[in-house]
Amino acid sequence: GIVITGATGQLGRLIIADLLAAGVPADGITAVARSKERAADLVSRGVGLHIADYDEPDTLTRAFQPGDRVLLISGSEVGRRIAQHAAVIEAARVTGVAQLAYTGVFGGPRADFQLATEHRETERLILDSGLPYTFLRNNWYSEMYAVNELPGILAQGAVVTNVTPGSRIATATRADYAAAAAVVLREEGHLGQAYELSGDTAWTFEEFAAEVSRRSGRTVVHTSLPGAERAALLTSAGLPAPFADVLVDVDEAISRGLLAGTPGDLSRLVGRPTTPIADTIAVSLAAQT
Ligand code: NDP
Repeated sequence: GIVITGATGQLGRLIIADLLAAGVPADGITAVARSKERAADLVSRGVGLHIADYDEPDTLTRAFQPGDRVLLISGSEVGRRIAQHAAVIEAARVTGVAQLAYTGVFGGPRADFQLATEHRETERLILDSGLPYTFLRNNWYSEMYAVNELPGILAQGAVVTNVTPGSRIATATRADYAAAAAVVLREEGHLGQAYELSGDTAWTFEEFAAEVSRRSGRTVVHTSLPGAERAALLTSAGLPAPFADVLVDVDEAISRGLLAGTPGDLSRLVGRPTTPIADTIAVSLAAQT
């Protein structure tokens, strides 16, 4: 069957919904989750459940069956993910799964920023395992800017970054990335592939600010700070210094063009254009009011 780890997260839920919508029978899907309560809605739709924690390798040993097609959704605890992912990969290797797909980072081995380190290392572990793999190298989620940060952006009248003005980022929505994951899990022909998944259009933070202005009726600009000033601002807002550094480092990577690529792998896999950032902004603004 098809097994999804991180199944009760936002991306995992969208992938399972896509698989069901595409006609994959619910009893052919297993959700791997930490919490029975959080998985209750999936179970009520007939999806199988295996309770496991990336931090407890013993809980993973019976998560998979030989021949399963497994998606490892990267964990959310930055700094702990190499050991966590290694435990999942080892369980998959010992079982002999037919496919191990992984949600990595855009650029794969070429992504040289701090936040990419654990993804690069995970891909390396998967290659070393000898398992048939599919790498889903996701660019940033549009929702990070258009949803999570939007209230702060509206309140300040600015999207504040340390991105060099004019730099581009090719985001897509979680639903876009989820659709691609569902395709590689239910279709043949994706083993040994590394897909560079990004939006069809790379946008600048000036364009993003202009779009938020146009749709909200408020004045919003892009404020680009030097890295040290941005780090100081983030820590003064309560962010731990190491995490502020990681965010500053991401913006430096954006300035170097590392998240600007539009190879088209995502729209080709899903057979439709990716969701424009303007649409995500519009939906998000509508949800605010
Ligand atoms: P979520 O935080 O919604 O989901 C993360 C999932 O990982 C949850 O299901 C969570 O379980 C599970 N998880 C975390 N730690 C463990 C653990 N120790 N053992 C078992 N399961 C664990 O994130 P999204 O769905 O939005 O994104 C998926 C992943 O993509 C993230 O985890 C992160 O690696 C990456 N990401 C990518 C971004 C991008 O812009 N490309 C932005 C943010 C994240 P539970 O449901 O129990 O909490």
